[in-house]
Formats: sequence, structure tokens, C-alpha cells
Amino acid sequence: MEKIKMTTPLVEMDGDEMTRIIWKMIKDILINPYVDLKTEYYDLGLEYRNETNDKVTFDSAYATKKYGVAVKCATITPNADRVKEYNLKEMWKSPNGTIRAILDGTVFRAPIIVKGITPYIPTWTKPITIARHAYGDVYKNTEMQVPEGSKCEIVCTDKNGNEIRQTIHEFDGSAGIIQGLHNVDKSIMSFARCCFNYALDTKQDIWFATKDTISKKYDHRFKDIFNEIFEAEYKEKFDNAGIEYFYTLIDDAVARVVRSEGGYIWACKNYDGDVMSDMVATAYGSLAMMTSVLVSPDGTYEYEAAHGTVQRHYYKHLKGEETSTNSVATLFAWTGALRKRGELDGLSDLCAFADKLENATIQTIEDGIMTGDLYLLSSLETKKKVNTEEFLLAVNDRLKVML
Ligand code: NAP
Ligand code: MG
Repeated sequence: MEKIKMTTPLVEMDGDEMTRIIWKMIKDILINPYVDLKTEYYDLGLEYRNETNDKVTFDSAYATKKYGVAVKCATITPNADRVKEYNLKEMWKSPNGTIRAILDGTVFRAPIIVKGITPYIPTWTKPITIARHAYGDVYKNTEMQVPEGSKCEIVCTDKNGNEIRQTIHEFDGSAGIIQGLHNVDKSIMSFARCCFNYALDTKQDIWFATKDTISKKYDHRFKDIFNEIFEAEYKEKFDNAGIEYFYTLIDDAVARVVRSEGGYIWACKNYDGDVMSDMVATAYGSLAMMTSVLVSPDGTYEYEAAHGTVQRHYYKHLKGEETSTNSVATLFAWTGALRKRGELDGLSDLCAFADKLENATIQTIEDGIMTGDLYLLSSLETKKKVNTEEFLLAVNDRLKVML
């Protein structure tokens, strides 16, 4: 078979620990034999980030802006332990944070669904994709503990020096706490556009919810911005695509989500997204089956797995012990990126290859061949636990038949 050709390079961001090992295995076993892979390679492994004073992370984000599609391996976000372990010059910032800030994107997370792994909510037969607004609110707050007898006000000074003052609370009879939050229209507008674009891209309905009945200025502003952008820029496109934008109160959204069968995007404010994404991921079974894509309002895509570098497995691997780490979410980051590259460049054989590779992966698990994490969850009668590499080889057996 002749290898599938690519025209534009994919931005490849390598990473750390166990996922770095898996990264190479996926390329060697499942991609390089079939695709004449064209990538612009950036090594975001912690050692090289340190060597380049983190410049490589910035370069990889600019390359993503230039080419439009990236695939990223999980990376270590350094903490004090890592500074010692890797003898770092500095506690470098989270690469995902850096990339997200440059691309001004929104992260969409969706589970991969397979027979045998039943969600804790069994009616969820289709994926629920969560989009979390990643700017502001309680994540950029100013807060204080205040002593009894304090009067707390909120003060806004406009550019002409005019002050608007409102009382938050007079703390008579008890000490207390206060908090100041903000968000900016520009960021909310970007978030809305990312969400509407991704809904069109994946042909799914989109739900959005806030607490606008209680928060009549703050949350209501989110509701209004979404509505204005939808009416002005997306309504017609949604009608043509046969999909819907649905706004409701957050309480109602939660109730409807639980009763739903899935198959839509749920756009969440920052805090709601933080909390609900953990709930949804757990309910679908395994973090190792959760995909993640960062989409910018101008249509740039960066695909990755939602999980981290699986440090515990890596240390076992270093000791020469066999590991059974799940490679599915990382593999789907590759297929997502290859398919998107194929769509943008009009390479239907590349898109078809990505589809087949995903089907082969799902079929392998549904045939009862799986890594340890899924083995514990699967209700299939005949199932076999395999190691990291054996799983990829079993996928390859099925892929060969499909090609
Ligand atoms: P993690 O890598 O997601 O792993 C946590 C645990 O979840 C693992 O120990 C394992 O459980 C299970 N798990 C996760 N992915 C798995 C997979 N593919 N196959 C099988 N089991 C899997 O989180 P962490 O250990 O807290 O973080 C490790 C490093 O990853 C940190 O340095 C962190 O900064 C980084 N991180 C990076 C990203 C990213 O780049 N997007 C995201 C999160 C964390 P068992 O041990 O019970 O088997
Ligand atoms: Mg969370």
C-alpha cells in the first residue's frame, strides 16, 4: 500500500513521562507505516522546555496559529517537587496555560464511548461535550476576611475619575468574608464564538446556562452576549445545519443533563465547567477515555488527551516493570488532528484513515482486548487485559483489515 500523503504539516508537541513513551509507540505502530507524516516537531518535554527557557512552548503555540492544527502530548506542569527532580532553572508555567493564552481558545472535552463500559448514568448513550470558559470569575478573584464592624463597598472609578459606589455588606455583629470577581466582554464573546463554531463543526446542539435570575447583571451579561452573537452571526448557519442553541437556568440545565441521552455540547461558565467536567468524566467511566481539543475563535485546533503524563505508571516503566497504560485518548488526539488536517487540505484519504483508526481502536476494546483501567470497568463476558504495546498491536491487526 502506498502511504497517504499530507500537504500541510501538523504541529507536533511532544511531552513527558508515560505519555511520551505512548506517543512514540502510536507513531511507530499505527501512523508512520500508513501515513507519510509531515509534522513540525516541538519538544515540550520538561527537559527541553528548561533548556530553552520555555521558548519552545511559545514557538509551538505560534506555529499552531500559523498552520491551524496541532497535536499535543501530556506535559508536566512543574511544582516544587519537579523543580528538584528535573533541576529546573525556574518553575515554568503550565504549557497548556501558555498555549491557551496565545490561541485565546476554549477547551472542549468529550468521552469516547465503547460497548461494555456503561456510564454511571446509563441513559448517556452519546457523548456529552463540555466547554469551559477559561477566563476570570472566581479564578481571578480578590477576596478578604473582614473584621466585625467593617463596612464593605464595591467601587468603580471610570476613566474620567467618576466613582460609582455600592455597599456589599455592613458587618455588624459578625466578622466575615468578601470577594470581588470580574470578567470581560471580549473574553465572553470569544468563548461564545468558539462554542458556536464548534457546534457547527461537530453538528451538535449547544446548551448554555448561568444563574441569571439571581445574578441579574453579572450572569445576565453572559446570557445577553451569547444571545446577541447567536442572533447576529449564527442563527442562519444553525438553521441550515439543523442544530439548536438552547439557553436555560443552570439548575434546569443540570436536571436536563441527567435525564438526557447526551449528544450535545454543554457550554459552562468557568466554575461550572471546572466542577461539571469532573462529574461528567467520572460518570462516563475513565479519564483515560476523555479527549480534549482547544479551539480558538479564528478556527485553530489543538488536540490532546484530557489526562496527564501518568507519572505512577512511568516510574514502574523505568523500573522495568510492565505497564498497562491506556493510550486511547492520546491516539484519538492524533486521529482528531489528522482528520482536521485532512478536512482543511481536502485530503479525503487522510480523513478516512483517521476514521478507520478510531473504529479499529473501538473494535479492539469491544472485542474484549483492553488495558487494565478498562478491564476493571468492562462488563464484557470475555475480556483480556493487555499491556500498553500489546493493545496498540491489537489495534493494528484490525486496522490492517480495514485499510
Ligand atoms: P494523570 O497523569 O492524569 O494520572 C492520574 C491517575 O489516573 C494515574 O495514576 C492513573 O491511575 C489514572 N490514569 C490517567 N491516565 C491514564 C491512562 N492513560 N491509562 C491508565 N490510567 C490512567 O494525573 P497526575 O498523576 O495527577 O499528573 C501527572 C502529571 O501530569 C503532572 O505532572 C501534571 O502536571 C501533568 N498533567 C498534565 C496535563 C496535560 O498536559 N494536559 C493534564 C493533567 C496533568 P492509577 O495510578 O490508579 O492507575
Ligand atoms: Mg475540576
